[in-house]
Amino acid sequence: MSNDKLEKLVELSREFGREDRGWAILGEGNTSVMGDADSFYVKASGSCLGLANRSDFTEVNISQALEFVAKPSMTDAEVQDALEAIKVDPNAKRPSVETFVHAVCLSIGDCNWVGHGHPESVLSILCSQSGAKPYLEHIFPDAIVVCGRNFAVVPYVDPGFKLAHGVRDALLEFKGKYGKAPKIIFLENHGPFILGQSDIDVINTMQMLDKWSKVILANQLFGGSNYLAKAESDRIENRLDEAYRRKRLLEQER
Ligand SMILES: [Zn+2]
Repeated sequence: MSNDKLEKLVELSREFGREDRGWAILGEGNTSVMGDADSFYVKASGSCLGLANRSDFTEVNISQALEFVAKPSMTDAEVQDALEAIKVDPNAKRPSVETFVHAVCLSIGDCNWVGHGHPESVLSILCSQSGAKPYLEHIFPDAIVVCGRNFAVVPYVDPGFKLAHGVRDALLEFKGKYGKAPKIIFLENHGPFILGQSDIDVINTMQMLDKWSKVILANQLFGGSNYLAKAESDRIENRLDEAYRRKRLLEQER
């Protein structure tokens, strides 16, 4: 079972790191999936998503990872030691510095799969003066169907341990407001975290987010985006036929 998931994680990562997509180059980005028991697989530090193989993923204990996240602060040296301590196999590669963020997403993000990248299109917006604001209203229905109506936003914070706290706080606030987790967490000046129900869900969501971002950017040439009314966006989110379409998208095999 775990082996099957690991194989799918390798495939997802290679798709995510495809050079022609521009979502993650060199050692950028990381992916993860829940394991069978109290563990998850996450990309090893420094590994390249586009060239990933099974040994580029490390199984870590999620309860132990969350115990570290519960600490108010950790020094850089303590973080390195913690990343080693939570490995299920001591001989495995050191997991990504964003492992603690993945632990938070997989524990309270209502998801089983996580993908994080630094797509050029999304960063063009998240690194601008506007930050994540252009994503808070919608411009076409399919982005609502695939990416969701509302999103959590985290202002820039030091990657790694502090980011795990930022993501935890943003997710708890979002769930308090909307009663469920978002499908995307926008990290300003950094990149998106995609929270998926399956490997395909993660790819679909990033693909639509990439398209949406390119359209927002192109809109700037023609006077800026013409936003849908809030009520129209809310209606798409709740339409029964769109719920059916969402379900079908998740069933597709790649
Ligand atoms: Zn990152």
